[in-house]
Amino acid sequence: MQQEIQPVTPAVTEEQASEPPSTMRAAQTPSSCQDEPLCKKLSQWNDWRWQIRNRIRSLDQLARYVPSLSGRSELQKVIAKYPMAITPYYASLIQHADVSDPIFRMSVPNLREMFDPPCLTDDPLEEHEDMPVPGLVHRYRDRALLIATTMCSMYCRHCTRKRIAGTRENAISARRLRQVQEYLFNHPEISDVIVSGGDPLTMSDAAIEAVLSMLRSVPSVQIIRIGTRVPVVLPMRITDELVSMLKRYHPLWINTHFNHPNELTDQSRAACEKLADAGIPLGNQTVLLRGVNDDPQIIEELCRGLIRTRVRPYYMYQCDLVRGVEHFRTSVRKGMEIMEYLRGRVSGIAIPTFVVDAPHGGGKIPVLPNYVVTMSPTHTVLRNYEGLLVSYPEPGVDMESTVEPASGQAGVWELACGKADVIQPAHTTRMDRREKITAKRGAARGTGYLFDA
Ligand SMILES: *Cc1c(COP(=O)(O)O)cnc(C)c1O
Ligand code: SF4
Repeated sequence: MQQEIQPVTPAVTEEQASEPPSTMRAAQTPSSCQDEPLCKKLSQWNDWRWQIRNRIRSLDQLARYVPSLSGRSELQKVIAKYPMAITPYYASLIQHADVSDPIFRMSVPNLREMFDPPCLTDDPLEEHEDMPVPGLVHRYRDRALLIATTMCSMYCRHCTRKRIAGTRENAISARRLRQVQEYLFNHPEISDVIVSGGDPLTMSDAAIEAVLSMLRSVPSVQIIRIGTRVPVVLPMRITDELVSMLKRYHPLWINTHFNHPNELTDQSRAACEKLADAGIPLGNQTVLLRGVNDDPQIIEELCRGLIRTRVRPYYMYQCDLVRGVEHFRTSVRKGMEIMEYLRGRVSGIAIPTFVVDAPHGGGKIPVLPNYVVTMSPTHTVLRNYEGLLVSYPEPGVDMESTVEPASGQAGVWELACGKADVIQPAHTTRMDRREKITAKRGAARGTGYLFDA
């Protein structure tokens, strides 16, 4: 469904006159203001409640941002099934008003959401089956996930909880919270609770604090995690007041959800930095999405950008088998290719774990390229990112008594039985660098000390 490309400058209507001009988007409110009406618009822009009030929720509103979508009334049935909400901030990140744009693709409804192949279900992870109390998913022994609200500021078209997110915009009730508290008291093996949703940071500070203080009232809960997309889609929500409240509930970790480098703006970075400055370790959960980030270079750029922002890439998810997201699915192979590309090329702290969240509630299963080539009783043969093959002798293997060295070309079998210990690729950047170092050392007739006396 390719639409013609048009710049996303909303035609300003009377209703939307409070909209800041596009050139002013994402700017910070200047401390001293010359142009009063403009400054009022900017301070509104930076007010998260204004952003929520002014979310794009109807097709009419959408057509004002994306004129090429006017008259697309058939999208009505999509948003009737899977609600739409796009914050003006997030909409301002759209560069091309069609599905070639990653932000557009993740936020603007698409008819293909109605496509319903039989392998997809509403709740493929069977979260509903693992809920001892409505809203609390207890799957792993020592941790549980709490759905604290069904509201998000932006409804991701690829959401894994499409069955819940936005269908009603409700926060958890006080009565439910007491039930959750009771369950946690009765299950002291749960030491880690993930506050999720929906997006818990769309709730008021007081409502978030009610959840956090309930969790802290249970002594066996050691770690609290919050899963939120707010730093990405509503970064102005990360206010000083929110952060100073959150830091009273340490150890508190936050996992956010950046999927594309275009989401790393000055404002989203500032939001993450504010959280990191409050001592909150930040992780990121990316979903592999067709046409958005199913590309090794895009993931590399994203992961490099994240660690510069002090956000540790945590998981990269294979798309779940959720009804309504077929057009986002990629092959598992693609994730494998991306992992192969990253290892050795980028810093280890920039490499997420690629996981398939198993259907039937099996939990997250890591998938990675094979680095173990073969094994024998005495040796493990491994390969690195360059194609180097090495053998690692098991402890207790008597090196002296191992078989004769291989005569001629060693193969994997020779590595596995200790007749050879390495097979090198003919040329690698690393070996070329080594050769230069050796040549230089030879010329300098070095002392062998690491540092000069
Ligand atoms: C992902 C998830 C967790 C947390 O898993 P980690 O691997 O510890 O991050 C816990 N419970 C449920 C239901 C989950 O989906
Ligand atoms: S923020 Fe999370 S819960 Fe909300 S729509 Fe996006 S993926 Fe779903």
